[in-house]
Amino acid sequence: MKKTFLSKFYQKTLTERVKALVSAEVISEEDAIDFNHKLQLPNEIANHMIENQIATYGVPLGLGLNFLIDNKDYVIPMATEEPSVIAAASFAAKTINHAGGFTTTVQNRTMIGQIPLKDVPNVDDAEKVILAHAEQIIERANAAHPSIVKRGGGATAIETRIIEANDTYNSPTFLVVHIHIDTLEAMGANIVNTMVEAIKPYVESLTSGTAIMGILTNYATECLVTSICRMPVHLLERSGFAGEEVRDRIIEACQFALVDPYRAVTHNKGIMNGVDAVVLASGNDTRAIEAGVHAYAARSGQYRSLTNWTKAENGDLLGELTIPLPVGTVGGSISIHPTAQFTSQVLGSPTAKELESIIASVGLAQNFSAIRALVTEGIQKGHMGLQAKSLAISAGAKGDQIDKVTEQLKQANNMNVTTAKELLSKLTD
Ligand code: NDP
Repeated sequence: MKKTFLSKFYQKTLTERVKALVSAEVISEEDAIDFNHKLQLPNEIANHMIENQIATYGVPLGLGLNFLIDNKDYVIPMATEEPSVIAAASFAAKTINHAGGFTTTVQNRTMIGQIPLKDVPNVDDAEKVILAHAEQIIERANAAHPSIVKRGGGATAIETRIIEANDTYNSPTFLVVHIHIDTLEAMGANIVNTMVEAIKPYVESLTSGTAIMGILTNYATECLVTSICRMPVHLLERSGFAGEEVRDRIIEACQFALVDPYRAVTHNKGIMNGVDAVVLASGNDTRAIEAGVHAYAARSGQYRSLTNWTKAENGDLLGELTIPLPVGTVGGSISIHPTAQFTSQVLGSPTAKELESIIASVGLAQNFSAIRALVTEGIQKGHMGLQAKSLAISAGAKGDQIDKVTEQLKQANNMNVTTAKELLSKLTD
């Protein structure tokens, strides 16, 4: 990818952006013909993806810029309806880029399937029997999905958990059998579900218990990714704020989100602004990621910040984000959705592990941008500037009117739809 592509991308018109993508060799000249139409999901495909389909619902697709992740430059497709998300990510990535970019570590991608058993006559004995038959259970699971084994993946391990009876919920004791499955490039929900359903009767016969279900868990604690960044304080200076002050305020803001769930939820929502936008653009399951990430944020028993910002020995600001991220590059709607195909092309056809690194880094960038603004000038200034366009459109502005109303709205005392309507009616008088 050519670096020239990155400059002043936000100032270009839509047509100029597509041209820039061609000159940066992100897309071919042929791809550029009828570009927008090619990325639309055709009704014929949509009709086969869900039930009772009647139309498709559009969400803007933009590019997060300036990302340097594991020494590789990326432009990152992000699908989001929220103004300022892409600008904030790109802005943060630029600062972090100057400091060497993001460094990531990706765990082995292991998904977990679970079979909870009730009415087990002797839970301790049954647990021993399950562990003694781990190899046979794994063999049966793999026989249920031989193609993933042929590709080099499949079931690898068995674990057990005992959950004691709980009077509050009137629930019985459960013996839970976990099976660990390497789903390679797939998120793996269907692979895992096929395997656990296949071994359910065998597990019941081994324990003399009753399996109440067989299903993957979205709490993907064996599929974690960590992204870190390190910034010298001179990169943190803002007008009116010394770098050290910004660093210390960022650390303090993070400490607050680590101890207060009311703040942590909003703090993590900001992280998910970026994470979800890339997950959606890549054709992955946003609900699966959201559910797992928030459970991970509560792993200590209290919902806490997913990021940690600390001070290095030499005074640099250190940022870290660890989340479960079982995304795939195959499966689900990924190979049939034209935008997901485009996203993969723009990202250089990443592996699932690389996609995890990219997504976690966007989440960390998003968090940096949000807290830096919060502890310095506040978020409303930047956010509302970008929100102004949406307000102008909501007020009914069209064509040239949108930019005119937006500019006047930014100078107005009250930036809201009522003001936008007043400004629009003055324009049209
Ligand atoms: P698929 O069912 O589409 O399975 C992926 C398939 O891709 C594999 O079975 C494999 O088939 C093929 N494949 C090709 N190349 C590879 C490779 N390199 N590595 C791995 N597989 C490869 O998708 P998933 O099992 O990933 O399931 C994801 C879908 O399940 C998502 O749409 C999700 O929304 C949905 N879902 C989610 C649930 C949840 O999160 N709780 C529950 C149920 C469904 P083969 O080897 O035969 O070619």
